[in-house]
Amino acid sequence: MGILAVQNVNKRFGGLQALNDVNLDVEASTVHAIIGPNGAGKSTLLNCFVGRLIPDTGSVIFDGVSLIGLKPHQINQAGVTRVFQTPEIFGDLTLLENVMIPAFAKRDGAFRPSLWSPLQGEREMREAAEEALVSVGMGAKRHEIANSLSRGDKRRLELAMALVQKPKLLLLDEPTAGMARADTNATIDLLKEIAQTGVTMVVIEHDMHVVFSLADRITVLAQGAPIVEDLPENIKGNPKVQEAYLGG
Ligand code: ADP
Ligand code: MG
Repeated sequence: MGILAVQNVNKRFGGLQALNDVNLDVEASTVHAIIGPNGAGKSTLLNCFVGRLIPDTGSVIFDGVSLIGLKPHQINQAGVTRVFQTPEIFGDLTLLENVMIPAFAKRDGAFRPSLWSPLQGEREMREAAEEALVSVGMGAKRHEIANSLSRGDKRRLELAMALVQKPKLLLLDEPTAGMARADTNATIDLLKEIAQTGVTMVVIEHDMHVVFSLADRITVLAQGAPIVEDLPENIKGNPKVQEAYLGG
């Protein structure tokens, strides 16, 4: 069994079976990509891993801990961190302040709305935040206001916000969506570096260049169900995969 074991997960929205008996095993320290046509259920599945959605049935076990029924912050404490499809950053704050918020949240097991109260261990958190910003190549911009960043840089900031929490499992929902090619390539390099540190990753991605650059294994989801799971080199020519994309 992998570090992340998903068994028989079902999720229905009214009349729509968004996830249909999903089984998935993610090996520790690998990058596992989930691909599939729009509406296949990829984001829904990630939402079930982080407590944003509760599956109707099934189990999600990470590193021996059952995640079903845990609150998002408890799942986060278990070492699971998510980077969202749409950047969720604090636009009026500096980059450094943005990264310090999840650093404190991870340490304290709760979100602290106020950065301005005297905080214990602020210096360590600041150092950790600076280190995370440096690791995504944005150390020099730490005092800039987040809203002034380009879209690609906002994604990098989000990655820094994730990395400062020292995740064991990093979940990425379309990390290069909307990026120009140069930013996409820089993000691929960055994610490869993160993967080399042993962090397990689950990546949802439309861009096949990104998927084939990063993934150790690929699961193809179609209409809520995994139809193929294989090594990247076996995915491209698989007729089931081609049919899912054409039919989707
Ligand atoms: P993907 O990320 O693969 O594009 P999603 O997981 O976002 O797909 O969506 C899967 C299906 O579930 C889609 O048909 C979508 O419209 C539907 N869906 C997603 N979230 C909700 C929701 N909160 N309520 C109702 N339907 C939803
Ligand atoms: Mg999605």
